[in-house]
Amino acid sequence: MINIVLFGKPGAGKGTQAEFLKEKYNLTHLSTGDIFRFNIKNETELGKLAKTYIDNGGLVPDEVTIQMLQSEVDNNPDSAGFLFDGFPRTIAQAQALDAFLTTKNEKITATIALEADDEILVARLLERGKTSGRSDDQDEEKIRNRYQEYNEKTAPLMDYYSAQNKFYAVNGIGSIAEITERLSSVIDNL
Ligand code: AMP
Repeated sequence: MINIVLFGKPGAGKGTQAEFLKEKYNLTHLSTGDIFRFNIKNETELGKLAKTYIDNGGLVPDEVTIQMLQSEVDNNPDSAGFLFDGFPRTIAQAQALDAFLTTKNEKITATIALEADDEILVARLLERGKTSGRSDDQDEEKIRNRYQEYNEKTAPLMDYYSAQNKFYAVNGIGSIAEITERLSSVIDNL
């Protein structure tokens, strides 16, 4: 089983690349952002709880996010491996994920970051906001808040996974196919 964490700032292209990688490596794609948006759309209790945090560009509390992620993994018992997209985003989430996978005799194989300059990403998100319908993509202040959350809470995960020798980074600027190629070469050499 290979379990990959796709890592990167909002707008870095995690979702786009996940669509290709899940097919290529037969992985179950779990995007916590997509799962939250699905719940918001369907007005579930989880969706109501998550909405205010997401609308403001903040993170949903760890406890809620971790529990949701674990039940998604449990709902896919026959999976050949997972592609985690947008999770973990805090040290507490990473520790919970490691502990949870250990109970299943599994582990994270690698974390791969898509790297890109902030200014390029903010412009990308504002462009995406014109068509995505995502309120958190339409307001520059909310976008900046998401970057602040990333820098404060998510960036420390690079050290967390580096300490386990599981951190890889690829240049996230280029054509979609070029970036898929860069990610694939990391995965193929694991
Ligand atoms: P994304 O689609 O990955 O950009 O996520 C959109 C929003 O969902 C984020 O700005 C957070 O509010 C929330 N979210 C997604 N994943 C997580 C996570 N792992 N922890 C906390 N909040 C999350």
